[in-house]
Amino acid sequence: MAYVALYRAYRPQKFCDVVGQQHIIKTLQNAIKLNKVAHAYLFCGPRGTGKTTLAKIMAKALNCVHGPSIEPCDECEICQGIQKGTIADVVEIDAASNNGADDIRALRDSVKYMPAVGKYKVYIIDEVHMLSNAAFNALLKTLEEPPKHVIFILATTEPYKLPSTILSRCQRFDFQSLAIEDILKRLKIVAEAENIHMTEEAFNQIASSAEGGMRDALSLFDQTISFSIHDEITLEDVLAVSGNVSYKELLKILDACLEGNGTEALKLVDAILKEGKEVPRVINDMIIFLRDVLLFKSNAILDDRLEFHAQEFIDFAKKISKTVIYDWLNHLNETNNTMRFSNQKRAYLELAILKMSDIKLNEEANLLERIEQLEHTIHMLSMTKAEAPKPQPIEVNIPTREEIKQMQAEPISEDPVEEPKIEAPKPQPIVTSNEVQVEEIEEILNSASKSRKVRLQAIWKQIGLEYSGMFVAQILVAGEIVAVNENKLIVVLNDLGFCNRLMRYENYQKIMEIFETFNANITDYICLPKGIWNKIKADYASKYSQENPVVHLEKIKIGVLKRKEPEQVENKDEQYEQLCELIEKEKIEISED
Ligand SMILES: [Zn+2]
Repeated sequence: MAYVALYRAYRPQKFCDVVGQQHIIKTLQNAIKLNKVAHAYLFCGPRGTGKTTLAKIMAKALNCVHGPSIEPCDECEICQGIQKGTIADVVEIDAASNNGADDIRALRDSVKYMPAVGKYKVYIIDEVHMLSNAAFNALLKTLEEPPKHVIFILATTEPYKLPSTILSRCQRFDFQSLAIEDILKRLKIVAEAENIHMTEEAFNQIASSAEGGMRDALSLFDQTISFSIHDEITLEDVLAVSGNVSYKELLKILDACLEGNGTEALKLVDAILKEGKEVPRVINDMIIFLRDVLLFKSNAILDDRLEFHAQEFIDFAKKISKTVIYDWLNHLNETNNTMRFSNQKRAYLELAILKMSDIKLNEEANLLERIEQLEHTIHMLSMTKAEAPKPQPIEVNIPTREEIKQMQAEPISEDPVEEPKIEAPKPQPIVTSNEVQVEEIEEILNSASKSRKVRLQAIWKQIGLEYSGMFVAQILVAGEIVAVNENKLIVVLNDLGFCNRLMRYENYQKIMEIFETFNANITDYICLPKGIWNKIKADYASKYSQENPVVHLEKIKIGVLKRKEPEQVENKDEQYEQLCELIEKEKIEISED
């Protein structure tokens, strides 16, 4: 006998077997009980959530020899016939393969005949959004004046693709993704019936990997059974089949990041990649893990998975702040978006890991440099040009022309991720070595306005929400507004690298555009690292008084590069110009998140 997939073999045959969607089942049963069955239903929802299963049970309940009743007997010949697909009164159409108008016209012609054995003709049209326009029009004609004995049940994962004329004629039910407990419950019933032994951890992993779809859960279960050579299926078996990363491994990686131990985190990531896990899956699993930590911290965990009771998980959740989680989620989401079209997915993942580890160690320059190098490497690797400038730390003077020539002559390192060349020089044509001066800060502080600051803080929140996909905007709003005067702003950031990045001309332009959309009336800004700001703040506070409101600050080294516009670059040498252009282009590509 041919093998029947578990999800087919264990498809619920009665309403009482269905897990989840209880509100929909109640409503359908009430309609049957009160004799108020609609002539057209629309079942919408993610795949594997029971839409066609419920449609078939509904068809049975209506046509059962003992019905219509709120539960089919599942034993009479009509119930059995519907299950086997041998009763002509219940017609299943897969619109994904029958999207022609002809099929629907044939359907329209057959609609007028009375049911052969049952009480209703039930047409179940799966993936109804796939119908062609002509087919929709033909269907619409039938829906407009349906014979009393006909019931349509349309199922779709994409209801927004349906014409409103169809939508308005159906009673709509939205199916929800299944809760993990519901999936677990069903999995355990199936495992018992099949006499399969599996550890609790493995059950949990299947249920959570399925992302709310019962069909996916049972398919994964099926594959794992074929894969496992043990008497009892283990978590490792499930992970090997699903490609997911276990909570324990994720916890170790993220814990290393939280401790600021980027090296250790990279080592752990390397180990799981060697096991054959794919980068996008790893990132996705990290996002889901962090979401769970966030839910746990908000006491919003609804399901009762084992992982949430593990002491390490609880300790980690207590240790990490929500701010850090949001920050990490930003990094990971950004990585997800930017690496999609790249072959260098691994470098992107490593970069994200280092940025995440950087949150604690942002004063440590070498890590920052490593980040800049990796960013550069990613770009270099993806560039087809054989010749390109080398990676460059930000704080350097403009190189001489000789130095530039020398750099151009050097080949690109084959594997810069493994062997970073920290000493590589680099031209910085747009930002010069000029630093922001204390006087400029002084001017803003002496004319600062509290009401402007409050207004800007409100705008900050909006920017954070509306520009969540733009990296520079996210760096900006991660900073704290410390002073605003009529049109200038001082923002304090956690690290110097980010300050300098925001001061780059192309980023300045982007930020100015954003300010403009909020009518913020800001024409310039200065970014300061926290350490410098603390010194300035202490100096300012010690000198300020009501009698003496204009303060002269001590002249200290700020270390943040001054923004310089491209036309201000004085050197007009042709080769130099070309190089500038190349670097500019590349920087924009990198920063266009
Ligand atoms: Zn029956």
